[in-house]
Amino acid sequence: MYGSEYGRAPDRASCIVHHHHHALPPDTSLTPKPSLLLNMLEETEMPEVANMPKESNMPKESDMPKEGKPPIPQNLQEFRKAVRSLHRPCNCPKCNPEVFSPATQCKKHREISSGEDAESNERVPSLSIQSYEDMYLVNHVIAYINRQAQGAHAYKLQRDALERWQALAKDGRLLARLAKKDMRNNVSTKQLHKVLEIFNDLYFFGALKKVRIFYGTRFWRKHWGDLLGHAQTFKGRAGLHSKLELHSTLHYRTYSASGMPISEILSTLLHEALHCFFDQSTAPGCRDKQCDFCKTRVENIEPGHGRAFQLVAKKLEEVVSGQLGFPLRMARTTSFLGDLEREEGQWPSLHDLTVWGFA
Ligand SMILES: [Zn+2]
Ligand SMILES: [Zn+2]
Ligand SMILES: [Zn+2]
Repeated sequence: MYGSEYGRAPDRASCIVHHHHHALPPDTSLTPKPSLLLNMLEETEMPEVANMPKESNMPKESDMPKEGKPPIPQNLQEFRKAVRSLHRPCNCPKCNPEVFSPATQCKKHREISSGEDAESNERVPSLSIQSYEDMYLVNHVIAYINRQAQGAHAYKLQRDALERWQALAKDGRLLARLAKKDMRNNVSTKQLHKVLEIFNDLYFFGALKKVRIFYGTRFWRKHWGDLLGHAQTFKGRAGLHSKLELHSTLHYRTYSASGMPISEILSTLLHEALHCFFDQSTAPGCRDKQCDFCKTRVENIEPGHGRAFQLVAKKLEEVVSGQLGFPLRMARTTSFLGDLEREEGQWPSLHDLTVWGFA
């Protein structure tokens, strides 16, 4: 689905933040729902407030006890306990390999093709938009990230990106400006694009197209609560494009006391970039289980911060500090619990939890 509210909430140790959904009066929920967003694919910009669903005064589903479902965990410890008690069967590729084998794979999604890079004469993966099944994409993007992380086999695209990062870090001015109280007055979105392009080439095959970065408006809290950023992808007359919004002061306000907000801003940027990457690259039919094959077998624990997101985000957390020299925090726990709280996520298996590093 497109444009789910893919924000990165501040990670507060193992404690979930209050999602804005609950902070709002009952009739002003502005959290876009996937089904609604599918209907607005032709829309190009932010949903108008007036068009957003009004929430009834009925108790929310998430507030009602559900048979066989534990209450939404408020911290990691509760999360672990709930997952243990639910004991869901695992449908990840490792536990359920037969449904992911080449013989039974979804035939509707495409394979990643490779082309020759004119400059380096290397065979390089060349992605097309909206083409791939989620877990297939996950495997390939992790392999791509590993090439750089494991040294010798990096593509030229990756080596160049790393050089650009090193120059940017050495220069230091842009990063220093990220630590200012209001980014809007100190860092142009064009400069943030430079960083995004580095992430794109290093981690996402350079496949991200048409991502526009914005600083959030004064209506941020109303739309996005205490999220630090969010991303939405739209399909319009001009093709597929993503909108990546950052709050311009919240990083400073939240993190300047405990340390530099720079790494948090960079983390938010990469978190949202990963959403854009999935939204732009996965085949909507597979993703929304409209594809005949995928609907019968895959629970990718969608949307937002489920299995696909967790696996790539975890890989990034493992490699980024070594490569780029800042501690990456993808806010994986808070974001996932936020999905559950909005009844948008699916409960993971204990094996998922272990693989994601939460067990
Ligand atoms: Zn997110
Ligand atoms: Zn599993
Ligand atoms: Zn499929």
